[in-house]
Amino acid sequence: MTVGETFRIAIIGGGPAGLSLAIGLKRKGFQNLIIYEREIDNQVRHQGWSISLFSPDGGLAFIEYLGLLPELSAISFQPSFRALDGETGKTLLYRAGNENGRRFKRGDLRDALYQVCLREGIKIIWDAQVKSFEEINEKVHIHFIDETKHHTDIVDLLIGADGIHSPIRKQLTGDVVRSAGFNSIVGLIKKEADGSNNDLFEHELIQNSGVLASGRNVSCWYAHHVLHDEIYWSLSIQSDEDFIRQHTNYDKKKLHDLALEYSKKFFPLIQTLVQRTPIDQMQDCLLFKDLDPMKQHSSGRYCVSKSGRITLIGDAAHAMIPFRGQGGNTALIGAWNLSDKLGTLVNQTNITNDEIGEVLLRYENERIPVGSHEILESRGNAARFHSSNSVTNFFRNTIMRMINLKIQFDDWFYKQS
Ligand SMILES: Cc1cc2nc3c(=O)[nH]c(=O)nc-3n(C[C@H](O)[C@H](O)[C@H](O)COP(=O)(O)OP(=O)(O)OC[C@H]3O[C@@H](n4cnc5c(N)ncnc54)[C@H](O)[C@@H]3O)c2cc1C
Repeated sequence: MTVGETFRIAIIGGGPAGLSLAIGLKRKGFQNLIIYEREIDNQVRHQGWSISLFSPDGGLAFIEYLGLLPELSAISFQPSFRALDGETGKTLLYRAGNENGRRFKRGDLRDALYQVCLREGIKIIWDAQVKSFEEINEKVHIHFIDETKHHTDIVDLLIGADGIHSPIRKQLTGDVVRSAGFNSIVGLIKKEADGSNNDLFEHELIQNSGVLASGRNVSCWYAHHVLHDEIYWSLSIQSDEDFIRQHTNYDKKKLHDLALEYSKKFFPLIQTLVQRTPIDQMQDCLLFKDLDPMKQHSSGRYCVSKSGRITLIGDAAHAMIPFRGQGGNTALIGAWNLSDKLGTLVNQTNITNDEIGEVLLRYENERIPVGSHEILESRGNAARFHSSNSVTNFFRNTIMRMINLKIQFDDWFYKQS
């Protein structure tokens, strides 16, 4: 029997990282895989905001490698990006959509990856919230919150893909996320069948774009999801952890009022977006949290456990705020890296602790520093996008204009050659 047939790998969390890792491992030949997901099925928690994946350096490259691009293209589109001066509405930077990027509605992406897992015979257990793990000899015992539904599972390798609040990370490293100092209010506008809001959907600053407008302590991001005829907007406010609850107690009318108040810091289109959002379409309040970069231990590994048979991927390893749009991209590239490395062991008849330790060491040393870099860069972007300092804003806008010139020059050069 080969390792591919016998080695039992449990992935905790069925988000983009966990599902894509499972597909990658299955393709490498691992048969004894199991995903435990706390949600009751694939239909719940379908937040509407989108996720953009890129290639060749981002998560789209893994999707391409797995051969899933044709089917995932049907549920996504090429996103353009525009950065605006929040006060004037003038374009600072514009990048047209191209074949190197796809934007997904996040529920659609997860469903699609889930369907691939089903098709490939990967076992996913829903409604299975993991409570803790225990390391006994060279095995990891997984314990569940509801032990009447799920008995302890004993596995050879445990991979925590359980997101920003990862209980696996908490037990393994003690690290927990903290507020990054930004609260966000999210609203949704759907295209009306009677055409009454067509003017908004046809506006040149909304057509087919993801848009970021920076203001004073506030930034507004919105995306027109062309496949669903929806515009999502998110107003993020530099503020204390409890800001939104204190001001609104999560009441939708109060959330709308607060968004209206902050939208006045922007040019008129942003105010119109908020004004024309029905109160019942106020979607979400996000408190952005992130993780301090994980530390490397004297053993050289970042995720140190007694058995050495536990590691983390995705937000569990490097939770970041979304101001660079890199969380999902970094998670998928991590999944690719880990599945490739573990794949080198699949045809052996047995694995020693040293061999598995060596593979995990190399994965962590390549990917966790990349995640840490993205955590810090995302913090930097958030500070720049929310700055109320006029000098900082001048430099930010000038840099964006220069990048814009470079994009235009490259496009022109590409067309000539
Ligand atoms: C507003 C916003 C916009 C973003 N936009 C982008 C973007 O454009 N591009 C991009 O690359 N990234 C983006 N991101 C980041 C991206 O969403 C995350 O980085 C990505 O979802 C991480 O994937 P993951 O699988 O590691 O974690 P998650 O998606 O959080 O999945 C973790 C899974 O683990 C499950 N789980 C948790 N605890 C347990 C438990 N105890 N037992 C069992 N299961 C458990 C959860 O239910 C969940 O399904 C954005 C984030 C936000 C907030």
